[in-house]
Parts: sequence; C-alpha cells; structure tokens
Amino acid sequence: MTELIIFLGPPGAGKGTQASRLAEDKNLAHISTGDMLREHVSNNTELGKTAKSLLDEGKLVPDSLVIEMLIDRLRSEKNKDGAILDGFPRTLAQANSLDKISENFPISKVIVFDANHEELIKRILHRGETSGRSDDTKDSIKVRLDVYQKDTEPLIEYYEKNNSTIKINAVGDVEDIYNLLSKEF
Ligand code: ADP
Repeated sequence: MTELIIFLGPPGAGKGTQASRLAEDKNLAHISTGDMLREHVSNNTELGKTAKSLLDEGKLVPDSLVIEMLIDRLRSEKNKDGAILDGFPRTLAQANSLDKISENFPISKVIVFDANHEELIKRILHRGETSGRSDDTKDSIKVRLDVYQKDTEPLIEYYEKNNSTIKINAVGDVEDIYNLLSKEF
C-alpha cells in the first residue's frame, strides 16, 4: 500500500520546490506530472508529440493520457514510504481515477497551497528568465491560471468533503513555508 499526499494549488505556488524537499526528508516519491510530460517532450515520445503544443499554450493534456502515465508511475514506486503528487489531479476525472485505486493508493493528506494571482504571475515570469520553460510566458500563464480556476480549484471542495485537507499560505520565504509544511508530517 502506498499512501498518497496530494499537493494542490495554482501554477507558481511553489509546489515543486516544497515537494522535492519533503520527498527527500520523508523517503517519499516526488511525482510531478509536469516534469514527466516535459521529459516526454524532450524525448520526443508519442505522448510528448501530443503534449508539446498543449504545454506551450498552458492547456491541459487529455485526462486519459495523464491518468495512464500517472498510474504506471505509481505502480513503479515500490521502495518508497509514500508518494507526493505534484500537479495531479487537475480535473475531476483525474480525481475520480485516484478514487478508483484507493485500496492500494489511499490519500492520506491534501495540501492546498494558497497565493494571490499577482504574486504568482510575478514568480512565474521571474522563473521564466532562467527555467527555459516554453510555458513561462505571459500568454501561457494567463491560460494556466484560467484553467486552474475552472478545472482544478473545484477539487479543493471535493477533497474537503472526504479527506484531510490542510491550507498553506504559499507567500513568503521558502524556508518558512517548508517549516509550516513539515509540521504536518
Ligand atoms: P505549473 O504548476 O507551473 O503549471 P506543471 O509542471 O505542474 O507547472 O505543469 C505544466 C503543464 O503540464 C501544465 O500547464 C499542463 O499542460 C501539463 N500538465 C501537468 N500536469 C497535468 C495534469 N495532471 N493533467 C493535464 N495536464 C497536466
């Protein structure tokens, strides 16, 4: 049985930064669907070819493709004490797919990262100067924030009903935020 910790929150909230630290401290797998998709793009796989323009525009990759990719990856993480899902689920269909495998992969906690749009845009544009990510542009950020509000934000309420959800204020020092976060584990 592999317990899952879900990191929910808008682009630029720092989920990836916090997830990689927590994963290292607690022997958890850090599963970032965004990183996995970018790897497919750079390896020019079939999935990568489908995903490339969607990623660049800030749109979501189709549920069926991301779900299959994620479930394969979860099955391969046998030696860890659990897994952090960073960037999954992003839609209700994706959340339902996790519910279907909850016997083997129960959700232990949902961490919700909270930050205002102004701060997020500033961070992503700043990151774009060095990240080399083709989606860290003004146009793509706008789409990503819209997609987040429409498709992903409703999942907060979805998880509040049945799971232990914890809100973290994601504006501030990386170190301070990590201290807040690690208190929960
Ligand atoms: P950010 O949180 O800054 O948007 P990510 O690396 O999490 O960065 O995601 C980058 C892009 O990868 C998304 O805009 C989307 O195109 C794609 N992506 C990542 N995760 C998913 C997912 N669960 N479902 C669909 N598309 C995804």
